Formats: sequence, structure tokens, C-alpha cells
Amino acid sequence: MADKTVFLSEEDALTMSRNILLKKGFSKDVSRGLSETVVAGQKDGCGSHGLYRILGCIKTLEAGGVVPDAEPHVEDASGSIVRINANGGFSQLSFSLGLPLLIEKAKENGIALLAINHCVHFSALWIEVEQITRQGLVAIACNPTQAYVAPHGGSAPLLGTNPFAFGWPRPGKPPFVFDFATSTVARGDVELYEREGKPIPDGWGVDSKGQGCNDPRTVLEKGALLTFGEHKGAALSMMIELIAGPLIGDLMSYESSQHDKSKGALPYHGEVIIAMDPAMTAGRNFEEHLARAETLFDSVESQGARLPSGRRYKNREKSEKDGIEISEKLYLELRSLLDE
Ligand code: NDP
Repeated sequence: MADKTVFLSEEDALTMSRNILLKKGFSKDVSRGLSETVVAGQKDGCGSHGLYRILGCIKTLEAGGVVPDAEPHVEDASGSIVRINANGGFSQLSFSLGLPLLIEKAKENGIALLAINHCVHFSALWIEVEQITRQGLVAIACNPTQAYVAPHGGSAPLLGTNPFAFGWPRPGKPPFVFDFATSTVARGDVELYEREGKPIPDGWGVDSKGQGCNDPRTVLEKGALLTFGEHKGAALSMMIELIAGPLIGDLMSYESSQHDKSKGALPYHGEVIIAMDPAMTAGRNFEEHLARAETLFDSVESQGARLPSGRRYKNREKSEKDGIEISEKLYLELRSLLDE
């Protein structure tokens, strides 16, 4: 039987989320940024990065894993580099404070890099990448997480689930965006299976001996997730460890796990975001080149294939029409936090 669901208006979802976070002790700015992120995730049908994440934010606060009123410090580090010290807070506020300077530098230099350091991070990256494409820029974002994933051929957790997102602006259309974990699935998806008491599909994880395992709790607590695409996904994951770790002077996933000291908090590390301006990189006729990109997208769709993010955009449209769908169980859990 399908789980019962309720529908919320965007405003009600934002208000509920903000009030819970404020009540738990997060500052006004932090509560607003977190709420916008989790409601955007829920609205686009990304359950593993939706309202459910409020529970993880609270758990992280209670475990002493995040500074609830952190004030990020923005540094204009060089001609094309913006550095932000999140000072132990969630990444959202840092991103929104650094975005204007990132865009300004990308438009000035053709390319710019935003390094967010010392942040607690859990969100879907498309939320950030879309904000950059809205300015007509191309975007890349990635970050390590914690040691949840075995390297290809290994059996112990070492790499993060390391998401990677790319965004390309499309005149008059929603941007071309893909955003995926380099593990077979995001860890949040395995957590949702565990919450629902369901076995996970083959190929998602292994037990402590490296044997394929369908029990979500064993995979989460004793085993490891697997990378997608075998050695190729593992190599991409290692690149992310490096460019969003040592390259920006921050932690890799296994170091983030050590930092956690088994608190079970959301991961603490850095994030790298790169913005590129086609008007500078492609030169005078850049609009013609962007039009050629449209031919690529059209050719994909004319074969009956779909573009990444198409599912999300459809869900967004539906949520705007019918309200944002949320499982009744989660809704009641969240309401009870307000009534406590
Ligand atoms: P999915 O495998 O669900 O989707 C990956 C991408 O592929 C999406 O852009 C998706 O678009 C697209 N896609 C899926 N199916 C198709 C298809 N048949 N044809 C074309 N495109 C397709 O994502 P993951 O489970 O790997 O990751 C989910 C989220 O988790 C991401 O947003 C990621 O940022 C986030 N995450 C965040 C972490 C963090 O530390 N902050 C850690 C790990 C993950 P669509 O959405 O429209 O289906």
C-alpha cells in the first residue's frame, strides 16, 4: 500500500521548517537558508534532500557538530578566487554571501572559483548550480563528504559519496543540469530505505567483508557504499576528494570522518564551485555557440531520451500547481517538533 501523503503550500512548508529550526536554536539567517534548501529539494521531488533533512540538521546541532549562529567571512582572495570561511556553520549562508562576488569575478575574468571552507554540508548541489546558470554562466560544483564509500576493488569506507554537479544556461528554457553522487546512490537514499524497513537494491553496498549486501543498516553502520561505474566512478570520486579538499586547503572525506569522532553529525569539510562566462570563453559570437548547444539538447530529446533534471522540473511544476507532497509520517514528525 502506498504511504499516505499530505500537500503543503510552499509558504507553509517554509514557515514550518523555519519555525522548527528557530525553535531548536539556529539563527534567523541560518534557518532561512536551510529552509529554502530543504523545501526546494522537496518541491523538486528529491526526498533524500528534502524536508527529511531537518531531522539531520537538528541531530547535528544536538551532537555539537555545527555552529547554529555562525557568521561566514568572505575573502576576496585573488583576481579569480573567492574564499569563504563558514566558521563551522552550514554551507547555505556562505554560498549566498559568496555568490555575488563569484559572479562578478567570472564575468570579469571568464572563470572564477569559490572555495567554501569549514562548513557543514548536506544539500543537493543543483540548488547552487541553478543560481549560477540564472546569470548566464556555466557552473561546476563538488564536495567530499565522509568516508562512506569503498574504493573500486576495496571493501572499507574511504571515499565520500562526493556529489558532482554541472549546469549550462539555456536561453528561455530551464538550464541543463546534472547532479549526482559518485556513489551508486546518495547516502540519504539508503537512510530512507532504513527508515522504511526496506531492503536496498543489489549493487548499492557491501558488508564489512566486502560482500554485496541488501540490509541498509549493515551497509550504513558496518559496510560501505559502492561507487557508480566501478573504477571510473572511483577515479572521479578521488578527483573530487582532491579539488574540494587539499586544493582549497580543506578536509578529505576520511579526515572529515575523523573530525566527526563518531558524533554522527552531518559532514564537515569544504566545497568548490567554479563559474565560467561563455561571453568571455567563447568570445564575440558566443550566442551562436550557445545555439549550437541547443542542437545537442534537441538531438538527445528527439531520440526519445530525456535530459537530466527533466524529472525535477516536472515535479517543480506539479508542486507549484498542487502543493508540495510530503509523507504524512514525516509531516507528523516535523509538526511534533513544533509542538514539543
Ligand atoms: P540520481 O542518480 O537520482 O540522479 C543523477 C542525475 O541524473 C540527476 O541530474 C538526474 O536528473 C539525472 N538522471 C536520472 N535518471 C536519468 C535518465 N534516465 N536520463 C537522464 N538523466 C537522468 O542522483 P543521486 O542519487 O546520485 O544524487 C542525488 C542528490 O544527492 C544530488 O542532488 C546530489 O547533489 C546529492 N548529494 C549531496 C551530497 C552532499 O554531500 N551534499 C552527497 C551525495 C549526494 P533528475 O533529478 O531529473 O532525475
